[in-house]
Amino acid sequence: MNDDMTDPTSHDKAAFLAAVKKYEGVHDVSGVLALDPVNGPMIRHWAEAMGDTNPVYTDPEAAAASHYGEVVAPATMLQVWIMRGMDAGTTVNSTTGELYKHFTDNGFGSVVATNCEQEYVRPLRLGEVVEYDQLIETVSDEKTTGLGTGHFITTLTNIYVSGEGGRELIGTHRFRILRYTPHKKKAPAGSAAPAAPALRPRKVVNKDNQAYWDGVDAGKLLFQKCTDCATPRFPFAPGCNNCASLEWETVESTGKGVVYSHVTMHYPKFPAFDMPYAVGLIELEEGVRMLGNVIGVPHQDVRIGLPVELEFVTHDAELTVPAFRAVGEN
Ligand code: ZN
Repeated sequence: MNDDMTDPTSHDKAAFLAAVKKYEGVHDVSGVLALDPVNGPMIRHWAEAMGDTNPVYTDPEAAAASHYGEVVAPATMLQVWIMRGMDAGTTVNSTTGELYKHFTDNGFGSVVATNCEQEYVRPLRLGEVVEYDQLIETVSDEKTTGLGTGHFITTLTNIYVSGEGGRELIGTHRFRILRYTPHKKKAPAGSAAPAAPALRPRKVVNKDNQAYWDGVDAGKLLFQKCTDCATPRFPFAPGCNNCASLEWETVESTGKGVVYSHVTMHYPKFPAFDMPYAVGLIELEEGVRMLGNVIGVPHQDVRIGLPVELEFVTHDAELTVPAFRAVGEN
């Protein structure tokens, strides 16, 4: 044994890296069939959620007249067809699970998805049933990022349709995650200095919402009204959702409304907040809804329909925000 050269930390790291590198190129699963064939209802929901109105996905007549000649699925739905659902789990084999356990057991307990790259070979048609293979493509050396220190793991999923001529590649889905140990929070320099009081998150003012925050600074709760079709809106946005007009004015709310929906926050415990506290989605009498703390009532007594009134609350020298105080019922 060479005592001078033995650094237990680097030795452990080398052993760990060797253990996880063995997974590179290992096929996790092969030939896993999709739970559902490519189908119209899933395509319709997807297209609606994405706001993709191309009729080639949903209208058989328009699709027949297109160069596809029939309805096809959006290429970007590739991963949709191989998802297993919440109950079935995200993988059907334990190899990646086994690899991830190595990371968790060695202190890399945090995870963040960092990249997704897809390649589309051809669009899928209604009724086709895809199958997929997945392999662990690479496990990186140790890297230090803004989040912490860890390893990137890239998996490659190849998606096929089987036919008489064998398997036809439809597309590929490459997914990269970082398993890492978060950076330790640094102790403030000169640790004798008293800790600054915890502050609530700062307001984010931009061109779109400047008028709203100007209103708050002036003690007014403002929402927008389209000057073309008179539709009120909140939060502040450049255009009207009803008529797309970019012309608008601000209107001052009376601040009277009712709780439309609410949650009580118990976690995460931010030092600047007194936990637990109630957050309400308030329907103002002018017809717009706003989020704010519900005050003046125990959080467990907040309920839908509870009448509330605007009250500006000052949290610190730079932060005054609207809250909603429960008022007596009429
Ligand atoms: Zn409008």
